[in-house]
Parts: sequence; C-alpha cells; structure tokens
Amino acid sequence: MKKIIVDIDNTLWDFAFVFYERLKKIAPAIPSTDLWDWDFYKNYISIDDLHSVIDGIHRDQDLFQPFPSAKWFLESLSDKGYSLIIASHRRDNFRKATEHFFLKHNLPYHELHLCHDKTILFDGSCCALVDDAPILLDKARQKGIICTGLRYPWNKHTEHPLFNSLEDVLNFLLEELDG
Ligand SMILES: [Mg+2]
Repeated sequence: MKKIIVDIDNTLWDFAFVFYERLKKIAPAIPSTDLWDWDFYKNYISIDDLHSVIDGIHRDQDLFQPFPSAKWFLESLSDKGYSLIIASHRRDNFRKATEHFFLKHNLPYHELHLCHDKTILFDGSCCALVDDAPILLDKARQKGIICTGLRYPWNKHTEHPLFNSLEDVLNFLLEELDG
C-alpha cells in the first residue's frame, strides 16, 4: 500500500492561530502570523519558553477544531487506497491527546508517528508528503517524494507547490499520483 505522510499542525488544523495567541501572552512584541518566517520567534522568546508553549498546545490538542475540510481530505485519500501516515513533531507524551483529536473529529488515518525527525519515514513506500515546513518539503523532494501543503508566510517563498486550501492540495496530489 502506497503511503502518504500527512502533518498535523498547520496542515489539518490552524496551529498558528493558537500559537500566536499564546506567544503574545509571554512575548507581547511577537510579530503577527502574516509576518512569520520559520525563525520569527528568535528575537522575542527563549527556545525553552517557545518549546513550553508548543508543548502546552499539543497537551491541549483535543480542545481544538480541525480545518473544516480535514476529514474530507483524509477520507478522499484513504478511499483512493493510500495509507495515511500522520506525522507530527511533538512529544510522545501527547499521543493520547492527539489520538483523541483524531477520534473526536472522525479523522481517518492508518499510523500515527510522533517524532523529532520525520525524514526517517521517507522510504521507498512513501509516495507523498503533505506538510508546511520548508525544510521537510526540501528533504522530501530530494528523495523524489511528491511534496505539497498549505501555503503560509513561512513557506510562500519556496518553490514547492503549495496551495491555499486542502481542496487544492488534494487536486494537485491526485493529479501527480495518477500521472
Ligand atoms: Mg506543520
């Protein structure tokens, strides 16, 4: 079964919105999300504080809503016979909250990987990656994996095929995979 790796944060739900809300509380001068690049936080918050905000959001994962089309997106790929490998850069302590988020919103998947290095999943059985992180998209492309995701301020300057909706991401993926 051909595998498609799908990210969670900023792919299946609006992580950045909650991230910004929480960062503002400890670093009021933090720039708004429309100004973010991948390292936007560097002059505003320590790496330890940053990680504790991210951990707090992942701990609360089941409080948040997925994007309205997330369920349809995953179902469409699953119906086409692809194995959905959900991969998120988060601590394994947050597995229960993450699994609950998927269960609560009926988001289908086949495997859930919580890891610090998603590239370990980029093997011969992986045909596509859906992610917003420029460095992961770069690494997937180097391996000949189809890569795409949602477009954001922090990835819009890359040359990857990124889109404003999961509908457009799916159309692109299906065209590439069928081709
Ligand atoms: Mg992400």
